[in-house]
Amino acid sequence: MKRTSILQHAGVWLLLLALCLSLSSCLSFAVPGQNVQTPPPPETDPVETDPAETDPSSPDFVLTDLPTYVGSAYAVLNNNIPVFSPEELTTEGYEFYSPLDSLGRCGVVIASVGRETMPAENEDRGNISSVKPTGWVQASYASMGGQPLYNRAHLIGWQLTAENANERNLVTGTRYLNVQGMLPFEDMVADYVKETGNHVAYRVTPIFEGDNLVCSGVQMEGFSVEDNGEGICFNVYCFNVQPGIIIDYATGVSSEGGEKPVDPEAETNADGEVIYDYVLNIGRKRFHYPNCSSVGQMSEKNKQPYTGSREDLIDQGYQPCGSCNP
Ligand SMILES: [Zn+2]
Repeated sequence: MKRTSILQHAGVWLLLLALCLSLSSCLSFAVPGQNVQTPPPPETDPVETDPAETDPSSPDFVLTDLPTYVGSAYAVLNNNIPVFSPEELTTEGYEFYSPLDSLGRCGVVIASVGRETMPAENEDRGNISSVKPTGWVQASYASMGGQPLYNRAHLIGWQLTAENANERNLVTGTRYLNVQGMLPFEDMVADYVKETGNHVAYRVTPIFEGDNLVCSGVQMEGFSVEDNGEGICFNVYCFNVQPGIIIDYATGVSSEGGEKPVDPEAETNADGEVIYDYVLNIGRKRFHYPNCSSVGQMSEKNKQPYTGSREDLIDQGYQPCGSCNP
């Protein structure tokens, strides 16, 4: 299944090199795995390539400042335009997973996702509990409905490349990162590939600040190859946070607390409470963010949109969903 080749990786290394050079001068977060393998010498320098020639890439873009979490599970980067080299935009399926770095952390992973990289129709997910990603200090909280804080988060989702207990593809990620942040993008790519049979250049880069064992977030990029980005085109940063939980990213230790982040542009009601759009389950008396996966599974007769404050809903006897943590 893995038809990786040195040629296809050259672009990754060039990007990492560029990222590395720019990062070393201006900030301290590191993309692990970048020095472990020696790539072949680059034939051309993508940084100096005319952007018009390497559509969709704008090779000048590197993630230099992490976005601030303000209540949305992801932030758009570079006007949502991913950066792939021409070699990476291939109609042949392949996968590449960086070796772990000296701290045991995952690095960038990249694939050309096609039907051939996806699990077979009757294939079952394997057990991944043998893998202990860095910073794996599990905890569960009543405020999350008793659910565990962390998931072994696939960098490239199982439904895209069928990787099970691959330690190079699993990081310590909050449930929120996994479900609210990454899953919608994975689903979008999986649906697109299933429908069209096309390929999607797909890269996920975990961002570890300094020597932290838990990544601050992951950058996700996708670009559909055969239709030149018409079907799939995104470049986002998903936050490895869990609302209401404080995480020590150096170690993975967590504790209850932390203010719910407030979007500075959010509207407030007469009591000064922040107004959000929610979806109510009037049967189970739960409320969710509209993008929560539970909303899709809710029966129509129980589903009701609601705009107002969290406090008002709790006063009305509603409980926040343990998964999306509204
Ligand atoms: Zn929910």
